[in-house]
Amino acid sequence: MRIVCVGGGPAGLYFAISAKLRDAGHQITVLERDPPQATYGWGVVYWDDLLDVLYRNDPKSAREITACSMIWQDQEIRLHNARREETAYFSGYGYSMARAALLEILARRASQLDIDLRYGCQVDDLSRLPEADLLVAADGANSRIRERDRDLFGTHVELGRNLYIWLGTNKVFTSFVFSFERTSAGWIWFHAYPSVSGISTCIVECSPETWQGLGLDTLGDDGGLRLLEGIFQGALDGHHLISRSRGAPASWQHFAHVSNATWYHGSTVLAGDAAHTTHFTLGSGTRLAMIDAIVLAHSLTEYLDLPSALREYDRHRRAELHPQQAAARTSMAWFEHLDLDDSDAVSLAYAMSVRHGGQPPWHYQLHLATQNASVRRARRAFASGRRWYLARHRGEPLAASPRAAR
Ligand SMILES: Cc1cc2nc3c(=O)[nH]c(=O)nc-3n(C[C@H](O)[C@H](O)[C@H](O)COP(=O)(O)OP(=O)(O)OC[C@H]3O[C@@H](n4cnc5c(N)ncnc54)[C@H](O)[C@@H]3O)c2cc1C
Repeated sequence: MRIVCVGGGPAGLYFAISAKLRDAGHQITVLERDPPQATYGWGVVYWDDLLDVLYRNDPKSAREITACSMIWQDQEIRLHNARREETAYFSGYGYSMARAALLEILARRASQLDIDLRYGCQVDDLSRLPEADLLVAADGANSRIRERDRDLFGTHVELGRNLYIWLGTNKVFTSFVFSFERTSAGWIWFHAYPSVSGISTCIVECSPETWQGLGLDTLGDDGGLRLLEGIFQGALDGHHLISRSRGAPASWQHFAHVSNATWYHGSTVLAGDAAHTTHFTLGSGTRLAMIDAIVLAHSLTEYLDLPSALREYDRHRRAELHPQQAAARTSMAWFEHLDLDDSDAVSLAYAMSVRHGGQPPWHYQLHLATQNASVRRARRAFASGRRWYLARHRGEPLAASPRAAR
């Protein structure tokens, strides 16, 4: 089959890899507007469930992904107002890696598989695309291909209320840290986690009132960064914030929550953020994009005719996404309606950990116990054993295991 894929992000590249691994006869072209090694954003987090899937689908790239990843332990919630500074904890571990490193691994793998990967190819005019039996729109949340036919796809885009900016910092975090600071204009906070050796990701978020009250709407790139460094001086231990990863400098955004009534039309199919977005506080957009890629590639081999393959991909994946998008909206709304003035860190951490509901009755007692350092150590030891078991079970070599941040 001749396949053209617009967008060389996780969805486009991993779809090309997954389809080619299933049928070496496919002729696949990936068109990416950016030059090689240029990308927006910093690190992305993920968990064991993604690694299990990646190791089953393509162990070769999965090994490289784990070898380039960091492991973080525990989540820390810091609350700092004029009266006091408090920290609370919840347990758990996860992984993170630089988005740029992930794309490099996937691009290298795509080239090994003879996929025609063309950089610097901005697709504006769809009539000038190479001829193809299938067009995969993996061109991200603002997908041009989807927008052209938004009525046919039944596209719905809703902007979040808060503003966020996706930054890096040379402060090394070893845990996933939320740091809430009270300013004269209201609360502002960051979500931070390790990305690569010596660098952490730091997403800053606040309400529009705080954003304007602090002057972040008028300060410009450098001025805004210096102001944030001042506000978070304690939380960052005086380290710097970094705006530019490899592409253009980061800018303040409202999160766009994208959904579609259908993910295909004729021989055009949506994958990844073009089809659906999930708020970054869920940390799952990359995982979902890569799983879309696998399911689409699998559907193409399972069903002999293209319409059935696309119909089944759409039916199966859209149903799976429904609860994830609902959870993402709940999470986005939770951060938009935070009332921090009367909060203490332990209650805030508990509320954050149960924001999706479905917790057992003893969860609160466990949360209180987790505030004790020796309980945290015991839970960390148990988690390390579990991680070790899962890693061996999926065939992750010790030499390719994620490293702890330091
Ligand atoms: C602040 C923030 C934090 C996040 N953190 C996490 C996290 O921790 N974990 C996680 O799993 N996910 C996270 N995500 C989500 C994740 O980044 C996305 O879900 C993921 O990148 C989607 O992959 P994609 O391939 O669909 O789209 P993208 O990664 O956006 O890739 C689309 C590609 O298409 C290209 N393109 C666009 N238009 C054209 C065109 N016209 N012609 C040619 N090329 C084009 C773009 O240059 C881009 O390379 C986060 C997102 C944000 C905003």
